[in-house]
Amino acid sequence: MAKVVERKKLNWFEQLYLPAIAQGLGMTFKEMFKPHITLQYPEERQVFADDYRGAPGLVKDQDGREKCVSCQLCEFVCPPKAIVIEPGELPADDTAANVEKAPKEFFIDFLRCIYCGLCEEICPEEAIFMTSRYELNGSKREDLVFNKQQLYELGGTRVDPIKKWEGK
Ligand code: SF4
Ligand code: SF4
Repeated sequence: MAKVVERKKLNWFEQLYLPAIAQGLGMTFKEMFKPHITLQYPEERQVFADDYRGAPGLVKDQDGREKCVSCQLCEFVCPPKAIVIEPGELPADDTAANVEKAPKEFFIDFLRCIYCGLCEEICPEEAIFMTSRYELNGSKREDLVFNKQQLYELGGTRVDPIKKWEGK
């Protein structure tokens, strides 16, 4: 059986209503002078720590060399199958062409990516990193499938003191 809840009767002061309105306006007025915590996006943007896990991007070393060797481990481990790699060769005149490879194409579908970071963790070459970029948008679905060039623009450069094939 439904329980009838007695509504508390308003006392004479509450029935005036005006004190409640004044109280509400007072609260609004007080908030006006508090420091702003709302970010005026997109003019103001959140600054994240370096280890923030935003969109993954490919990186080059300080000499502009591609670090990715197209081993496809990240493609294999990616849970939503967001990565597609087309393995390729280094140009014949590259000093490491006899021992190393590079991706011919590398795609990440950011409509699928769940920003889990497994690609960064598994990469034996430290070639893919989660960046601080957290906003990706486009006017059609294809705009969110990034190709190799876009991924290198996203990842930028990472200084790599280990030059494993130098002089070999
Ligand atoms: S962050 Fe996760 S989901 Fe996104 S590409 Fe890397 S492994 Fe795939
Ligand atoms: S990013 Fe790393 S794991 Fe992925 S293919 Fe390149 S070298 Fe392999």
